[in-house]
Amino acid sequence: MKWIEDELRKLEEQSLTRSLQTNAPAPGRQGYVQRGQQTLLDLSSNDYLGLARHPAIAAAMNRALLAEGAGSGASRLVAGNRPPYGRLEEALAVWQQSEAALVFANGYMANLGVIQALAGRGDAVLSDRLNHASIVDGIGLSRAAHARYRHNDMEHLRQLLHKHRDARRRLIVTDAVYSMDGDQAPLAELVALKQEYGAILMVDEAHSGGVYGARGEGLCHALGLQSGVDVHVGTFSKAFGVYGAYVCGSRTLIRWLIQKARPLIYSTALPPSVIAGIAEALNLVQTERWRRERLAASSRQFRLSLHRAGLQVGPGDSPIVPVVVGDNATALRFRSALEAEGIAAAAVRPPTVPDGTARIRFSLSAAHTPEDLADAARRIERAALRLGVPAR
Ligand SMILES: *Cc1c(COP(=O)(O)O)cnc(C)c1O
Repeated sequence: MKWIEDELRKLEEQSLTRSLQTNAPAPGRQGYVQRGQQTLLDLSSNDYLGLARHPAIAAAMNRALLAEGAGSGASRLVAGNRPPYGRLEEALAVWQQSEAALVFANGYMANLGVIQALAGRGDAVLSDRLNHASIVDGIGLSRAAHARYRHNDMEHLRQLLHKHRDARRRLIVTDAVYSMDGDQAPLAELVALKQEYGAILMVDEAHSGGVYGARGEGLCHALGLQSGVDVHVGTFSKAFGVYGAYVCGSRTLIRWLIQKARPLIYSTALPPSVIAGIAEALNLVQTERWRRERLAASSRQFRLSLHRAGLQVGPGDSPIVPVVVGDNATALRFRSALEAEGIAAAAVRPPTVPDGTARIRFSLSAAHTPEDLADAARRIERAALRLGVPAR
């Protein structure tokens, strides 16, 4: 196994090693984490609506845990399909205004399952170059041809659709909001192209579900495009603050996934307590609008503050605010400087992002107050100045 040590050394030389840091929720302080002796403002989690520590969700999970026990015992197709699953899926379909819904263990497995069920040998999957790794892995599992188009480049997508016109089927897949860039896909153009070329369109709302739309339905609904999208995927582990994922679409689609989606068929059903937590979170996502409104206002203000501080923030209005620094070592030094300023933020490096685009990814939450974020912007500016991080 010596080769592993050699490889690890190579990664270290390129500032590319990853390590597990321990973060505990800071007692009594929403939006903060405890790391060792230090309490840090948490700009690294995906708890966009601040629901991860919501007492009503914890209470619902606790009740289900005591009533139904810890585990579901088997996959849903065997014996794990408890009554709350069906009730949750009915509520999800109503929320998404779709015919049907299906819960998966997590977003990673949902993307694997859907892509592998919808595409196979002889098909082509057309995927934005910046799509999430779970989409890339789903395409690998499907064995379909993987046609990557340049980020948000609809002309390139059109060329690839043309090139693959003789494929048995064409599946276009995109993130609605890109996970490491925070910008949006051109969904209206994607709907038009999928209609023109007779393709299937799948949209991953991992970072937009709960965040956009009058009742948190996601970006497709916010833009009035939901009926043009064939497959909606979203996760319960980000804005919902719990764990798990959903797929919404036609009854036919959901029936097909139950036949073919391997991550659904060959893995144990989520525990009943998790389903209870998701059901409670779904209520809160729809009813507590102030969370979405506060998050939108914070995102606008925070982006503006960093821009004024001379930092180049990515485009868009989402709570994902990347500051690209370029090289890996600088990203790591920036992260340490931020930590010294009392801020936890992720240093994202290749292969998660393209070479030469290492960045700090700030992610905001409705758990943060405007004062928290105004103060954070000042401290980020200080850390950036000290490091001489490339300014605009
Ligand atoms: C996080 C993420 C996923 C995976 O969701 P999990 O529920 O965390 O497994 C899928 N797609 C995108 C775009 C994501 O950002």
